[in-house]
Amino acid sequence: MPVHGGNSIINGGDFCAPGTKLQREAGVQDSPELMLNDMLRKCSYLNHPELAKMVAYNAKDALEWTESYIGARYTKLNYQGGHSVKRANGTISASGSELVNKLLVKAKELGVKLQLRTKLVRFMSNKEGRIVGIEVRKGLQIPR
Ligand SMILES: Cc1cc2nc3c(=O)[nH]c(=O)nc-3n(C[C@H](O)[C@H](O)[C@H](O)COP(=O)(O)OP(=O)(O)OC[C@H]3O[C@@H](n4cnc5c(N)ncnc54)[C@H](O)[C@@H]3O)c2cc1C
Repeated sequence: MPVHGGNSIINGGDFCAPGTKLQREAGVQDSPELMLNDMLRKCSYLNHPELAKMVAYNAKDALEWTESYIGARYTKLNYQGGHSVKRANGTISASGSELVNKLLVKAKELGVKLQLRTKLVRFMSNKEGRIVGIEVRKGLQIPR
């Protein structure tokens, strides 16, 4: 793509996590167990249970990491479909741009070099199967 951010920069900025500061302030009772049950029930138990559990039990730490590490701000508690309580912590911009743009600033601080219009074609592995490189196509133009 000619711009950074993917879907994450245009999304609604709602970060679902149980036991957050916004929930405590609003008096919402929540827990990782309840979030996991909501995720499993609303997906008709078709989820990969271990991955769903990983999300439910680590979401609060991940959200707080975005606050402390990149300075993300969450200002509004919202409902999202499938959740039995208000647990969608909305970013100040009501968009994922609050996270992506701040991650980008941090990445640049850390010396990460960004390359746009660069398509990953395949991973390259050595004889042992270890990934040792990637093949990319650069300078792609969007066909008209
Ligand atoms: C309108 C909208 C609103 C949403 N609102 C919410 C919300 O409020 N809360 C929520 O939790 N979720 C929301 N979602 C879902 C959420 O945005 C996605 O689940 C999330 O952004 C996916 O992140 P990702 O990193 O997997 O993909 P992306 O953020 O899309 O990033 C993928 C990146 O990889 C690049 N890419 C793909 N293939 C290649 C390749 N071969 N080579 C090089 N680069 C490549 C893409 O260009 C892109 O930059 C929303 C989605 C949409 C579309």
